Amino acid sequence: MQVIQSTKLANVCYEIRGPVLEEAMRLEAAGHRILKLNTGNPAIFGFECPPEILEDMLRNVGDAHGYGDAKGLLSARRAVVQHYETKGVELSVEDVYLGNGVSELIQMSMQALLDDGDEVLVPAPDYPLWTASVSLAGGTAVHYRCDEQSDWMPDLADIERKVTDRTKALVIINPNNPTGAVYNDEMLRGLTEIARRHNLIVCSDEIYDKILYDGVTHTPTAAIAPDLLTLTFNGLSKAYRVAGYRSGWMAVCGPKAHADSYIEGLTILANMRLCANMPAQHAVATALGGRQSINDLVLPGGRLLEQRDVAHEMLTRIPGVTCVKPKGALYAFPRLDPKVYKIKDDRQMVFDLLRAEKIMVVHGTGFNWPEPDHFRLVTLPNAKDLADAVTRIGDFLEGYAQ
Ligand code: PLP
Repeated sequence: MQVIQSTKLANVCYEIRGPVLEEAMRLEAAGHRILKLNTGNPAIFGFECPPEILEDMLRNVGDAHGYGDAKGLLSARRAVVQHYETKGVELSVEDVYLGNGVSELIQMSMQALLDDGDEVLVPAPDYPLWTASVSLAGGTAVHYRCDEQSDWMPDLADIERKVTDRTKALVIINPNNPTGAVYNDEMLRGLTEIARRHNLIVCSDEIYDKILYDGVTHTPTAAIAPDLLTLTFNGLSKAYRVAGYRSGWMAVCGPKAHADSYIEGLTILANMRLCANMPAQHAVATALGGRQSINDLVLPGGRLLEQRDVAHEMLTRIPGVTCVKPKGALYAFPRLDPKVYKIKDDRQMVFDLLRAEKIMVVHGTGFNWPEPDHFRLVTLPNAKDLADAVTRIGDFLEGYAQ
């Protein structure tokens, strides 16, 4: 008997680890060295775990072998509450759910919310787990356009046009993956005003909130709109460089009076997976309350800032390539001018780049961007490796599809 995947997966894609990665692994098995610029995984580019986080994990690991509270360790949830209090967001420990990374919590938030055919407004381009999680939950991701001409700011008129009576939630990814855009308070007010007018839940993915360049600041969406039900997602993977520890949280902010049943749904799903990885939860309070070593990396003289600059400068030197300078996060999302590069299938283009240069990036349509004219690379390798990689990408593009 043939075993066939569920139809639930029919519209579920996650291209960051898709067929291009399979090909990269085949090439590796055949002895090639592949530079993987596809995932925002700081550890593999020499970023170390902050010592106090490692120490706390290790110190507590002996007592962390049992199941814990399904919502999470109290000390971790208290630390999350305190962290948001300093940012003007009020919540209680009962409003915080710890998860095995933000990824798990994104999926839970959509599973608990959507019935078949419900719609969620998701940015284009997006971090594709959002679209995939909406689809897996039976919903339809309706993509609103972010405008490259305006530094990738969300197009509020486009969002407004796309609201229907099936729309349940508005997803905001700020700082944005893949574009690196960071929204100011006025933009957040514009976004939340739409949610307010149409009774939408706001899902605000803020996992890059501390990875900010050029003096820009980040405001949690929940601080801008305390009157709206806002789920805020964040975790240790990026700012604390411990993606493998699988530790994240979701904070349910704003008025809960009309959301009892949804919140009960979230709790059922949290209970069903018993608890999140316990050792890593012991590091959450230390991470949030301790020294913010991420600042050493993003402020002038910092490695991440230097790499962002190198990536941007070198990419924009390639003829026919433009790139909005990222203000946050760990990526660049350059555009290949369609007049110069006649690319019909951008996934094929990244396959061809992989085979030719042994460099793996992700095609723009993998982020639900509608045209085959972008790709994303991570800005995590050291400046020299990054410069070398971008030079090779430029060499590859010269003569490609022209
Ligand atoms: N949200 C965004 C915008 C991301 O870029 C990522 C990972 O790259 C995640 C969520 C998932 O993070 P986690 O490691 O916490 O599951």
